[in-house]
Amino acid sequence: EIKTPKDVLDLMKRESVEVVDLRFMDFPGLWQHFSVPAHEIDEETFTEGLGFDGSSIRGWQAINESDMLVKPVADSAFIDPFFQHKTLVMVCNICDPITGEDYPKDPRNIARKTVSYLQASGIADTVFIGPEAEFFIFDDVRFDQNEHEGYYHLNSIEGRWNTGRIENPNLAYKPRYKEGYFPVPPTDSLQDIRSEMMLVMERIGIPIEAQHHEVATGGQCEIDMRFAPLVEMADNVLKYKYIIKNTAKKYNRTVTFMPKPLFNDNGSGMHVHMSFWKSGKNLFAGDGYAGLSQEAMWAIGGILKHAPALLAFTNPTTNSYKRLVPGFEAPVNLAYSSRNRSASVRIPMYSSSEKAKRFEFRCPDPSSNPYLAFSAMCMAAIDGIANKIDPGSPLDKDIYDLPPEELAMVPKTPGSLRAALEALEADHEFLLKGDVFTQDVVDTWIDYKMEHEVKALDLRPHPWEFALYYDI
Ligand code: GLU
Ligand code: MG
Ligand code: MG
Repeated sequence: EIKTPKDVLDLMKRESVEVVDLRFMDFPGLWQHFSVPAHEIDEETFTEGLGFDGSSIRGWQAINESDMLVKPVADSAFIDPFFQHKTLVMVCNICDPITGEDYPKDPRNIARKTVSYLQASGIADTVFIGPEAEFFIFDDVRFDQNEHEGYYHLNSIEGRWNTGRIENPNLAYKPRYKEGYFPVPPTDSLQDIRSEMMLVMERIGIPIEAQHHEVATGGQCEIDMRFAPLVEMADNVLKYKYIIKNTAKKYNRTVTFMPKPLFNDNGSGMHVHMSFWKSGKNLFAGDGYAGLSQEAMWAIGGILKHAPALLAFTNPTTNSYKRLVPGFEAPVNLAYSSRNRSASVRIPMYSSSEKAKRFEFRCPDPSSNPYLAFSAMCMAAIDGIANKIDPGSPLDKDIYDLPPEELAMVPKTPGSLRAALEALEADHEFLLKGDVFTQDVVDTWIDYKMEHEVKALDLRPHPWEFALYYDI
């Protein structure tokens, strides 16, 4: 196991590493990188860092000092499974070269501060996170007119709407609509690709629990990592996406983590399982509802109370809100339940073991920046516990049996990114505690998302507008 700078240097020698690739997270959530020859790395690099120009990184432009430092994190190191030249990758923290301080807009720094704040609050010393990030594997991306729905779509690997392409004939073993979960091959044509993804992840030190096809017919998949502490898990999500996309590329396929690539089929969520631990004990296990403790109930109270604002980080794209609609296993009700999958918070009942007690927030999707999404969730849960926020009663009745008046009383997820950003504007005190998310971070996030995504999309004629209005 790699823990210290010395371990990294030993590994580099042992593996004859030639190149070191330094990676960090930009503001919206895409891994960035640059490389140095192996001889540039010594023990000092870990404390003194390496310089780069931070002014062209999305969302960071406002800084007047553009020179920044990356400081590699030893225990994040892994040998890159894709490059021709032997390359060691390390995840980095971002620092100011003058003051030496951690950069407040570095998402990883925000995640580290979240954990420090949790510890300082005395509530818990560890927060464990288990994300289930779903994704689609497509054979190519062509925006063709779909004859059935009069809409543009992607050609999927399953060839659902793929007619007459000789190199990808319809062999009749396609998952039926919403039946991708989960018949054996030949219906599931993605087993080998997913297994390779899974094994590569294990090889670089990410323990995996399972891999499977998902419900959507269009090549939707899921690989589940074993839960880990917050910062490590956010690092892992980036490694996960990197390995999945690059393994697919090897097979001449392409992967998307966008939440709703296909109209009228299931979208891709990133359900997040969470538990707080103190001195080796799971604080969320107890003898209340569904085997949860009072602290867990308050944490759920915090998540539900702040959910509309939270979604600005956990569901941060315009496409996110095309997933959060009824009928596709995505949540729309801001309520909790141990049974109902349309509730935003579900308490899994797979295991009665104390260690396994947790809740699952079902809103998040994989278009989120995991450092920011997990941090915001954790801050809402801390706020719930600190202020003893009561989550009300569970939504256990089958929602189809609920009278419409009663269902209408249940608060709903925001309908758009604009609505979530407005909710964040109105409710972000809980994120500023302990200087975790600074006011500047919140303001920059809202501004960036409004200008570059919400308004940018509003300005553009949409393909569906052609279907609706062309003949007007
Ligand atoms: N794909 C569903 C979603 O959008 C989740 C399916 C599942 O329960 O795993 O959240
Ligand atoms: Mg799933
Ligand atoms: Mg789940």
